[in-house]
Amino acid sequence: MFRKMNLSKYAVSIFLTVFMAACAGGINLFSDADDVQLGMEVDQQIRQQSQEYPIYNRNPAVKEYINNRIFQPLLSSAAIEKRSIYPYELELIDRDDVLNAFALPGGKIYLYTGLIKYLDSEAALAGILGHEIAHAERRHATKRMTAYYGVSMLLGIVLGQNPGQIVEIAANLFVGIGFLANSRSHEDESDRYSVDYMQSTIFYPGGVKFFFEKLRDDGKIDSGGGGIATFLSTHPDPIARIASTNQRLTEKGYPVYSWFQDEIGFYKAEYRANIIDQLR
Ligand SMILES: [Zn+2]
Repeated sequence: MFRKMNLSKYAVSIFLTVFMAACAGGINLFSDADDVQLGMEVDQQIRQQSQEYPIYNRNPAVKEYINNRIFQPLLSSAAIEKRSIYPYELELIDRDDVLNAFALPGGKIYLYTGLIKYLDSEAALAGILGHEIAHAERRHATKRMTAYYGVSMLLGIVLGQNPGQIVEIAANLFVGIGFLANSRSHEDESDRYSVDYMQSTIFYPGGVKFFFEKLRDDGKIDSGGGGIATFLSTHPDPIARIASTNQRLTEKGYPVYSWFQDEIGFYKAEYRANIIDQLR
């Protein structure tokens, strides 16, 4: 046990170390097992809040199709590192008023029916799922929590408290504050990985930007509006992200297509027949 004086000197030094490392985005005080446990606890809380998060189950064939056709092929990419340790799983939320998707630590990915109905190609949906998978793979949630709560976590460990309690606290914080906004750098990294994952699928690898292009062309980025405002608050910088994805596509030797075209790898007819028309 440290004497009070020593502890406070120690605390300052820990604080500076964690603060600097967290600002650089380089460290994560949570383990992969913590990510899995945290995700499971948040998932349970989400399932208890059936008003806010009603699970879509009118036609189970929709989720099954998206899972088999898009989600699992993305997870088969060689660029996925944690498929054997994270229980990756797709879930649909039955809310047409929300244009959003989100990932929990450990790989549970939630997709709102509002977003599904707004998109119009399998490539666009695959791009978003790839982006959400990247948030889990790259452990963005626990990196952000390390940045926010790292000092208290380390002090808790120093003072001999049970580190397991931290995951419990973190789970409540995660749900309680309505999910922390993703940082621009994490959004950018997820867009980049989405292109990488997509490269090993049948889909056009730039699909991650289609949603933003459609919002832009529909004049919805400036006007906002309920569901869109929610999405944009957790997924900032839509216009810059379109440009970044276009640049990546060019660097990798792919043509730069837009959402309104129907090129090889878009699969618009399949999207309508197997997903939109089945969402009853
Ligand atoms: Zn994101």
